[in-house]
Amino acid sequence: MSIAGNVGLEDLPRICPLISRRVQSAVDIAETRVVTVGKVLFGGPRPVIIAGPCAVESREQTLAVARAVKAAGANMLRGGAFKPRTSPHDFQGMGVEGLRILREAGDETGLPIVTEVMDPRLLETVCAYADMLQIGSRNMQNYPLLVEAGKSGKPVLLKRGMAASLCEWLGAAEYIAKEGNLEIVLCERGIKAFPAGEYSRNVLDLSVIPAVKAETFLPVIVDPSHATGVSSMVESASCAAIAAGSHGLIIEVADDQAGAAKPQCDAVQAIFPGTLKRIVQFVDSRVEQSSLRKAHAV
Ligand code: PEP
Ligand code: MN
Repeated sequence: MSIAGNVGLEDLPRICPLISRRVQSAVDIAETRVVTVGKVLFGGPRPVIIAGPCAVESREQTLAVARAVKAAGANMLRGGAFKPRTSPHDFQGMGVEGLRILREAGDETGLPIVTEVMDPRLLETVCAYADMLQIGSRNMQNYPLLVEAGKSGKPVLLKRGMAASLCEWLGAAEYIAKEGNLEIVLCERGIKAFPAGEYSRNVLDLSVIPAVKAETFLPVIVDPSHATGVSSMVESASCAAIAAGSHGLIIEVADDQAGAAKPQCDAVQAIFPGTLKRIVQFVDSRVEQSSLRKAHAV
């Protein structure tokens, strides 16, 4: 007897036919469908590095971090204007003013911006500023939000729910695709499993990357910052994610210049620009190696 709601990978062609590799056989089995945000290509020849503060906390902080991540070699800028916080008494983000600041930082540096939308009522507003919408872990199964994000036609970064199976995650992506929007990038950000909370914030599920690639043609990236929650673990998690085939990384970065304020949000997991630069160098070296390998193969 099967249990109601219990689904396995064999159910994916029924749950998410629009994004299933097995159903959409027109998409070459080895290929990723490239998602374009400005000049940035997810699923293209080079992993994409998104970096920036957890939250937009001031104009000064955001511009400083944006300039630093650009100089370190990042391809896109992140920053939350609407923050999903555990306590309603904690800083909730700067709201529309935060969107305006992030847009300014993106325009100045030439980096496309991604920012979280939590409320379907604010989707139009966020779309007016952002190049890419982020749907966070807590909202992965907010179906009305997914439908509106689908209707917007904007590229969407869909994070994995913190306790979501692959079927639930891809089912969520299908809600966006069903509205005619295939501009979806998936993001593994760690799941709640033992030993989450003991020495790391979550458990980075690296094995989901090849599993995602087997089941869908959508690109998949990794968030090593929320996955580990510890700044000293972010570099190794980033390199491991790239080695496992991730199409990119989204990393939280703080300003280390003298006089810079400590972030109000997720300060313990933020890396400094110098570490980001090393991660970018690692990615570059991998890309170089694989193009050399290809050149030798012909
Ligand atoms: C974030 O990236 O700002 C964030 C809140 O992440 P998550 O939804 O993965 O917790
Ligand atoms: Mn954060």
